[in-house]
Amino acid sequence: MGNSGAELEANVYNRQVKRDQKKFKVWTSAGLMLSYFCPAQCACCYVFSGPNAGEAATEMSVEDALDHWAAILRLGGEKGKVHLTGGEPFGDFERLERILQGACEKHLGGLEKIETNAYWCTDEKVVRERLGRLKELGLERLQISTDVYHQEYVPMERVELAVRIAREVLGADGVQVRWRDFYENPVLVGKMGDRERTEQLLAAYKKRRERLLGRAADKLANLFPLRNYESFADNNCGKSFLGARHVHVDGAGNVFSGTCIGIIVGQVKPRKAVTLDELWCGFDYREHPIISVLVDQGPVGLWSIAEELGYVGGQGYASKCHLCYELRSFLHKRGLSGEQLGPGVCYGLNFEKPQVNA
Ligand code: SF4
Ligand code: SF4
Repeated sequence: MGNSGAELEANVYNRQVKRDQKKFKVWTSAGLMLSYFCPAQCACCYVFSGPNAGEAATEMSVEDALDHWAAILRLGGEKGKVHLTGGEPFGDFERLERILQGACEKHLGGLEKIETNAYWCTDEKVVRERLGRLKELGLERLQISTDVYHQEYVPMERVELAVRIAREVLGADGVQVRWRDFYENPVLVGKMGDRERTEQLLAAYKKRRERLLGRAADKLANLFPLRNYESFADNNCGKSFLGARHVHVDGAGNVFSGTCIGIIVGQVKPRKAVTLDELWCGFDYREHPIISVLVDQGPVGLWSIAEELGYVGGQGYASKCHLCYELRSFLHKRGLSGEQLGPGVCYGLNFEKPQVNA
């Protein structure tokens, strides 16, 4: 793999398929999930991040973060990029600083952005110092989350402080406010009654469809009209998996395709002595017991597997991904496919005490 990254033929599956068949695209972008810890518990969260979700086994070490970073650059070449995310990556600022410091020392480029919910932005001096330090270490873009869900947990003044100082330190182009329309006209549902709050959440979802996985499946799906599982029969996930150029990696070394969090494509360091590029080269979806079903049939294909184990179905499903999540959650809780479904925090399980320095 040179500066232009990996060739498609470096992957074992791509070498076997016919010319006209869909190839498994090269991963060129990785989101490093430094921790599942987060001070918030947003209803839209596609894992179950929260104050008690950071356990030692899923905290990403500086060494592993740099290892994954280097691997995605080998795969993606000049297109290779990483973003640092969580949970909340500012939950451990020292780690964030050490990762960027290490990347500078190893001359790793391609830092796309760091994401934050701005909960830590309570003191102007601290915000300026931290962002200034990260800028010195190569940060060019900060993504600040702000929407109806996040603002149930993070006071708007902190977001405003973060945006103001980040614009000063990184320049206007260095700040991505997600979402800008909400930032300009925030709707705070915290003090609203149930009915009004539900209306606002529905309005927000209609505007931007969150993927109904993890806590979002638990908290949001029931707000929508639910459909029978058979109505999703025509929806396979071939495009999502084979065409995904983006992966997420958590601190336990679980690799997820795109935002299909909780479906483990494979495991890298520290769980296995495998790097991200080695995993990509050796991955053949046909050998993966869950992904092979999803690629060929979509989540409906998991129904019969779950049914055999006693799944009787819920009241219906709001979307294809909601159906997928419910079936996977059932299979995970039944202990099926421990290497392919997990970790527990993606399914609302296994919380331990947080291990972070806020
Ligand atoms: S959506 Fe982001 S900010 Fe909200 S709980 Fe999840 S990780 Fe935290
Ligand atoms: S249905 Fe499942 S596998 Fe398909 S895109 Fe949604 S989460 Fe991913």
